[in-house]
Amino acid sequence: MNPILRATGITRRYGERIGCADIGFDLYPGEVMGIVGESGSGKSTLLNCLAGQLTPDAGSILFDSAQQGVCDLLTLSEMQRRTLARTELAFVHQNPRDGLRMSVSAGGNVGERLMGVGARHYANIREQALSWLERVEIPADRIDDRPSQFSGGMQQRLQIARNLVTGPRLVFMDEPTGGLDVSVQARLLDLLRGLVRQMGLSAIVVTHDLAVVRLLADRILVMKDGQVIEAGLTDQVLDDPHHAYTQLLVASVLQA
Ligand code: ADP
Ligand code: MG
Repeated sequence: MNPILRATGITRRYGERIGCADIGFDLYPGEVMGIVGESGSGKSTLLNCLAGQLTPDAGSILFDSAQQGVCDLLTLSEMQRRTLARTELAFVHQNPRDGLRMSVSAGGNVGERLMGVGARHYANIREQALSWLERVEIPADRIDDRPSQFSGGMQQRLQIARNLVTGPRLVFMDEPTGGLDVSVQARLLDLLRGLVRQMGLSAIVVTHDLAVVRLLADRILVMKDGQVIEAGLTDQVLDDPHHAYTQLLVASVLQA
């Protein structure tokens, strides 16, 4: 089986400061990879490079596209990249406001993505939007409400519906449960886990919360000072961390 994503030598500096340095890994179809590490360790820099939101100074990111075959996300034309972003890739932001259109109804937020991949029949779009709202536990009678009228947890569930409705193959998530109440986080995490499994999604999840990787991630990368210092199966790394830094992280001594 070919990896769905093969990252090699991903490096990004901010002037003299290192964001992330020489990161490489393979992600296989249906796998969820967690990226953990204390604040400032380079998690977001790496994720944003992978997701095309930040241009790395060096490296390659091979994506095994269903439509375009294996392609380097860093050398695609803008049009090819946008096509992939609409169809095969998705990004769930920590702050739902960054991933939603706040001035558009909940149904519109979901339906818009369907139109982006060619759906035109209004009744079908509404029906599909409705079924996705249901899937993320948003009551049907909220379909015409704007996200600003929703709670934080509901906004995040809407962002997830908006991003998954087109059936992407690879989803990037940056602290998907960050900034929510603990009880809301647990429910969202359950929902995410169910969707990832049902849809057979491949995903890369950045989180400071080891409970999130425990539940979602098959494998993890532990980052420190822009580098990966430990990598492996989630249970192995968390139950038997080899690197002293990972041991501190697991013992919650470090402020993640
Ligand atoms: P994390 O997501 O793990 O908290 P980041 O990727 O945000 O880490 O940051 C990694 C390093 O890069 C840190 O030293 C941070 O200060 C630096 N950094 C991140 N973004 C910028 C930026 N826009 N300008 C300058 N330095 C940055
Ligand atoms: Mg970050």
